Amino acid sequence: MRNTNWMVIAVLLLSLAALAQQPQGSQAAAQSASQPPTAAPAPAQAAAPQALAQPATMDQVVDRFILREQGLIKMLSSRTPVVETYLQNLTLDPLLGPVPENDRYFLGRMDLSTSIDRKDYIKDDESMEKHLLGGFTKLFKITYQPLGFSWMIFADRNDFDRQHYEFRYVRREFLGDVRCLVFDVTPKKGTGNGRFLGRVWVEDQDYNIVRLNGTYAPHARNSYFFHMDSWRLNLIPGYWVPAFIYSEEGDFSAGAKNKIAFKAQTRIWGYDLRKNGESDELTNIRVDSVQDSSPNAQDASPLAAEREWQQQAEDNVIERLQRAGLLAPEGEVDKILQTVVNNIEVTNNTDLPRPVRTRVLLTSPLETFSVGNTIVVSRGLIDVLPDESSLAMVLAHELAHIVLGHNLGSQYAFNDRMLFSDESTYQNLGFKHIPEEEAAADKKAMEMLKNSPYAQKLDAAGLFLRVLSIRAGALNALLTAHLGNNMAESGTVTRMAQLINSAPQLDWNKLDQIAALPLGGRVKLNAWDNKVELVKSQPVAITSARDKMPFEVTPFFPRLTRAGADNTASATGSTTASTNDKSAN
Ligand SMILES: [Zn+2]
Repeated sequence: MRNTNWMVIAVLLLSLAALAQQPQGSQAAAQSASQPPTAAPAPAQAAAPQALAQPATMDQVVDRFILREQGLIKMLSSRTPVVETYLQNLTLDPLLGPVPENDRYFLGRMDLSTSIDRKDYIKDDESMEKHLLGGFTKLFKITYQPLGFSWMIFADRNDFDRQHYEFRYVRREFLGDVRCLVFDVTPKKGTGNGRFLGRVWVEDQDYNIVRLNGTYAPHARNSYFFHMDSWRLNLIPGYWVPAFIYSEEGDFSAGAKNKIAFKAQTRIWGYDLRKNGESDELTNIRVDSVQDSSPNAQDASPLAAEREWQQQAEDNVIERLQRAGLLAPEGEVDKILQTVVNNIEVTNNTDLPRPVRTRVLLTSPLETFSVGNTIVVSRGLIDVLPDESSLAMVLAHELAHIVLGHNLGSQYAFNDRMLFSDESTYQNLGFKHIPEEEAAADKKAMEMLKNSPYAQKLDAAGLFLRVLSIRAGALNALLTAHLGNNMAESGTVTRMAQLINSAPQLDWNKLDQIAALPLGGRVKLNAWDNKVELVKSQPVAITSARDKMPFEVTPFFPRLTRAGADNTASATGSTTASTNDKSAN
């Protein structure tokens, strides 16, 4: 445990160091903010790189991507995206290789303007901080302050130029569909600590950096920067916005001293969200002149009024979560989830006054909840589910709450209860059930599953819960629900636990037994508009037990495409059959 703490502390020091080592750079940034450097293009011009002549030499290419980088920094300065980091500290398992030993989770909104700021959705546990860092609790706060992040999003937010860096052209290379020029970037001598050291990939049309891979150097004594692989996506014309950052440290080769061993995924999304949750007043004006023209337009009966009221609460919550950047807009994935819900409903002759809807929570922790007749499943949970029957298991539990009338939540029909800052969403909304309702929902869900088309396939769902129970002790952060009930309590799986007993034995060496998938394998999130879709990539054959990686963090390798490029051909696959494949076979 002591070792583990040191790992975390070391991780924290990384960004503390970044902050401590760049005081001059920060000041320089503050000064240049008031008087923009003449080299920087005006925002409007930055959006139209076509207006510039194509560079003729590699030197001109370097000048161009430096200029484009400044344009990106400027464009993003008015944005407040959501930033999520999920980190797994690793330990070595002789059979499975590095496996999670414990984990950490951070979620916040980042302000990318010059006065960078970060507000957290999740308040760090004070006692945990004290425990980890003794008297230095204030320093801990700095860790996930945006400066730490901003140097992972940009190569160098303040000084990415020829005065501070050497650029050496390496080769041309395709990343996905995009042809790139590859450059090695090294800080010049005497330019200070914490400069970017590594490689950048620059697309060869507008010369935007699309990928950064490396670390920051040199580091001061007693501090340390981690390595990162940072990917950008072309989600709006003219710009490639940072979307994924993978970090990893550790060496498990014989004799290596593992002071730090971890893997972490950082996801950034919600660039299109409004700052501070402020809303455009025009969009809020309702069309008042439309009258209810239904034939029996009259006062609602008491029961109808009760249902209307709950619908209002449900709509309020869904809209608010979407505005906070935590819920995907309605889309393709919902259709798949709804198909599974339908399959259960139809075979159980479930008759509900209102149709059941589903939505995707954009965060990684494994959780589900329902509000009114809307079932919400987290992106992370959809990612790790091995097949459709395990998805049915997850949905059946929430459907049971709906059928049993557990979802009241009518307090949210009062609109004042929606007036809170995005960052305090988790303090203001909650959909946890009491243990008795949880037990009743599990029981009802089992009944419904046994009547459903999934009745003969529940082994996979049970196996999923079995591997979850094996890993639960190490995945406390991943298993901490923020709006709904936890699937496991103190390392023991509680959700639908009955299924574990009837599940087959877990056999790591059986390569066709896939109990749970790694994170990030199923759901693709658009960092700009928060839309989600299912990943279309072909499953890769598993060749050893180490390939299974249930619930684990892996590197990112997005297939890069240009905005507006026709990539619909691959996206028009079936929308309903996609969950049928055992994607890792
Ligand atoms: Zn429940």
